[in-house]
Amino acid sequence: MSIPDLKTQLAELIALPSISSASPRHDMGNLAVIERLAQWLETLGFAVRILPLPDNPNKANLLATLGTGPGGLVLAGHTDTVPCDEQLWDSSPFTLSERDNRFYGLGATDMKGFFPIAIEAARTFLDTPLKQPLMILATADEESSMAGARALASQGFPKARYAVIGEPTGLRPIRMHKGIMMEAVRLQGRSGHSSDPALGRSALDAMHDVMTELVNLRKALQSRYQHSGFTLPTPTLNLGCIHGGDNPNRICGQCELQFDLRGVPGMHNDELRQQIRQRLQPIADLHQVNFELVDLMPGIEPFEQDADSDLVKAAEQLSGHQADAVAFGTEAGFMQQLGMETIVMGPGSIDVAHQPNEYLAHEQIVPAVELLRGLIKRFCL
Ligand SMILES: [Zn+2]
Repeated sequence: MSIPDLKTQLAELIALPSISSASPRHDMGNLAVIERLAQWLETLGFAVRILPLPDNPNKANLLATLGTGPGGLVLAGHTDTVPCDEQLWDSSPFTLSERDNRFYGLGATDMKGFFPIAIEAARTFLDTPLKQPLMILATADEESSMAGARALASQGFPKARYAVIGEPTGLRPIRMHKGIMMEAVRLQGRSGHSSDPALGRSALDAMHDVMTELVNLRKALQSRYQHSGFTLPTPTLNLGCIHGGDNPNRICGQCELQFDLRGVPGMHNDELRQQIRQRLQPIADLHQVNFELVDLMPGIEPFEQDADSDLVKAAEQLSGHQADAVAFGTEAGFMQQLGMETIVMGPGSIDVAHQPNEYLAHEQIVPAVELLRGLIKRFCL
């Protein structure tokens, strides 16, 4: 039963690039990372399943299970990273570099570093009979489409009672975040000579009314939904960019507006999309332009785990911190869909993620292992 030590595992995972991106130019598979993890976990006695994504043979999720029985605890992380600007790094993003009591590398904190830590915690219990199984889950495509978590939710894996997603939170338990939708309104009118409005149908005039309606929707949502758990308690809707027309003396034939909408728990992305369509379609009809609402990304649902749930209570007790909210989105909603109590809690800081010289501070590692051991003891023994 021999696998590399924690630092060597981290070095090996960082040396296996697994960038995921909505842009095909940057996108890579994650199979090498999945296979390496599977090999280590199998050596330790976990039952390992590699679950390929239905529509992408280069990507897979991994579910490794130790012990059997009802319930169980899932320690979950994503295997992919964001792209990087290699020239801005002080050392290669794909080579583990140790300096200033930190491990530097792409994914060191977000979040390849979580796996060696989870494995280290699990090793303590290899010879202990577990009453409830311990699962290590490694997903694909969290940073781009969340296709990995989406596939799991539709396949019904994993089945357990509790899930901890080890995103970098400085080892503080997180029980809520807002949702994220990024959408485009596309209006297709007809161009014509500006001297007579009847010669065309202005997409810009229509978009003007669309924007007014979206601002009205924002006001309505903000007065209806407030959640005191967030620093900014209301949902937000940001009109982010607009493109349309080409010349002052031409009626604008087409116009596109992109916006994001971040809902608080209690709101649902599909319902919001429906509401937006209902509000905007009459405007399009009035202006006689063609209207489309397009998702620019699949969207992340708002997430909230009850403050008094077992997992939140246990995590608060073991970490010494009260459960809080974060500003970034995670796979937590998908884990909840599978029926698990879910929190986000892991080593490192989101502040150094997604940028050059990402690192995991040494001082986070031992407490992270201890924290996970505490959860395993609590929920698997
Ligand atoms: Zn992450």
